[in-house]
Amino acid sequence: MDEERLISTGFKTEEDDMEYSLRPKTLSEYFGQKKVKESLSVYMQAAVARREPLDHILLYGPPGLGKTTLAGIIASEMGHNIRVTSGPAIERPGDLASILTNLNAGDVLFIDEIHRLSRSVEEVLYPATEDYALDIMIGKGPSARSIRLDLPKFTLIGATTRAGMLTNPLRDRFGITFRLELYSPEELSVIVKRSAQILKIECSKEGALEIARRSRGTPRIANRLIKRVRDFAEVLAGGVIDEAVAKKGLDMLEVDSLGLDRTDRAMLGAMIEKFGGGPVGLDTLAATTGEDAITIEDVYEPYLLQLGFIMRTPRGRVCTPRAYSHLGYAAPSNNDERQITMDI
Ligand code: ADP
Repeated sequence: MDEERLISTGFKTEEDDMEYSLRPKTLSEYFGQKKVKESLSVYMQAAVARREPLDHILLYGPPGLGKTTLAGIIASEMGHNIRVTSGPAIERPGDLASILTNLNAGDVLFIDEIHRLSRSVEEVLYPATEDYALDIMIGKGPSARSIRLDLPKFTLIGATTRAGMLTNPLRDRFGITFRLELYSPEELSVIVKRSAQILKIECSKEGALEIARRSRGTPRIANRLIKRVRDFAEVLAGGVIDEAVAKKGLDMLEVDSLGLDRTDRAMLGAMIEKFGGGPVGLDTLAATTGEDAITIEDVYEPYLLQLGFIMRTPRGRVCTPRAYSHLGYAAPSNNDERQITMDI
């Protein structure tokens, strides 16, 4: 199902890879996340002044908000290289050891989905991040001994959608933790304008804002939507994205005025029609939508929570009156009635 969802950020498409050109290269081109940028530039200046590598950084937040982009910017602003990998890609401790020994002093090692590192790989990271050292076992049995190799002083940047899934020792290795927030429509419209310029398509302020409003607070989605809307603009409107073209294009893509797509509406609709608005357990929601529970929790829910369309309760998710009215249902008459409609 993911493949069909334009607004899904749980996966990167080949087209997103080609979006490399849309990736900001400097902190000044990286819009939004004001607080993160302010703190980061202080930490970077301090590290440069002390001629030390930057402390290890943990970035967390939903997919598509710019964690990988920010890691690349940090490396280039510090004048060093970045090595990009991910938790599931590092299968054995030896894989990580070879990455670490190939780093140069000051380099950034970026590990996406760091919560998915295996325990044995994670154990290699502890001395590597704390003492810049690699412990290697030589030999087997009683004659086995461990030798310690020095590593260059590098900066680890870990990214995760779920900080709560990191083990405590790993979380403790990060001196700096930043939580990336969903972007406001105004911030996203600046990103859309910049992408339009790079893609060489004329886009009015209102057109950019319309795309931004439907991008679920997420730059990756904004960049995808502008590419699709560009097709409409080129075929139907002489190559200009204004508000009407953006609206028409996005309506045809079934991305509604708040950025919800067919699956979101189906999920909310099922919660309302079949479960009286909830509470509905995550697994039931997953079964109803055909998405897996983790994807719902990490990718779709943050935006629905931010919109105030659903609430999390100990017994499951509950639809709010806002969701009822957006989907054209009459508001629930009695909250108590909803509370006893149990999750099946
Ligand atoms: P994540 O690693 O959090 O999944 P990425 O760093 O891959 O997200 O960002 C997805 C895309 O969104 C990038 O290709 C980039 O073009 C765009 N993007 C992300 N954050 C910003 C930002 N703050 N300003 C401009 N573009 C951004």
